[in-house]
Amino acid sequence: MAYKPRTAPEDLKVLRILNNRLALTAEQHKYYLYKEKGFEGEVRFDLLTEQLQSDCLILNDLYLEVNNTSFQLDSSIIFQHIFYFFEIKNLEGDYCYREERFETNFGKIIKNPLDQIKRSSSLLLQLFQKLGFSQSIEAYVVFVNPEFFLYQAPMDKPIIYPPQLKALMKKLDNTPSKLTNRHKQMADKLISLHQVQSPYSNAKIPTYEYNQIRKDITCSVCHSFSCSIARGNVICVDCGHVESVESAVLRCVEEIRILFPNMRITTNVVFEWCGIIDSKKVVRRILKKNFKSIGERNLRYFE
Ligand SMILES: [Zn+2]
Repeated sequence: MAYKPRTAPEDLKVLRILNNRLALTAEQHKYYLYKEKGFEGEVRFDLLTEQLQSDCLILNDLYLEVNNTSFQLDSSIIFQHIFYFFEIKNLEGDYCYREERFETNFGKIIKNPLDQIKRSSSLLLQLFQKLGFSQSIEAYVVFVNPEFFLYQAPMDKPIIYPPQLKALMKKLDNTPSKLTNRHKQMADKLISLHQVQSPYSNAKIPTYEYNQIRKDITCSVCHSFSCSIARGNVICVDCGHVESVESAVLRCVEEIRILFPNMRITTNVVFEWCGIIDSKKVVRRILKKNFKSIGERNLRYFE
């Protein structure tokens, strides 16, 4: 199990809800799929590192800063003497490596992930020096998608191709390592320096207002709006999934919090969001049970 598990990035959480509840433009939808795919690739890599048996600490997704410059490490693993980090790419299809550049089949140049790890390595080294860590750093670009193919792939670059993932895990598992408290302190320090990126710092997130957002409970599995209520459960007409009303209401509260972090959670707001629940009392009871209630009657809200 990862010492720092991965959660979906905040901007992706916003995009997921907007994709369901707002009519995104083709461009915005494309960006949403791109983010979703990137996250999917990272999770795919986590499934492999999770199985490591060697004495190591896995830190997923670190967003760090040194000398006012930020950098992101998709996946890091602390061993006794080495600090590995991986830039994970979920590209699929055919690419070509030409004159130190990654190109698509159509000649479109993509951001060079080798430059990214070079930059991150140098910044990480600065951070380590500042913190007094003596760990040596080793970085790789990892292509996790089995449908990815690189023509003229260079042999002398720190790149892991999909068929080499197994060998990479073997290598990591065979890395001699005995961690001490010092390594744990190092991991804790890095986690404490991790910055959660606000979704609003991402200019590609569409702007939206409360009134534009489509309300109603959606199915937690297939995201369909075709849900009905029977005996305390929300039932999806499309996929048949059954969920308790309480759990569905709590999901709605979570959605409101993600999209409108400054909005007060009141019975009225949640009742309107849930849509198909016909009793405000039911909503109020669930909110009272799960949150701290502040204020009385019309002024009451929940935290
Ligand atoms: Zn469903």
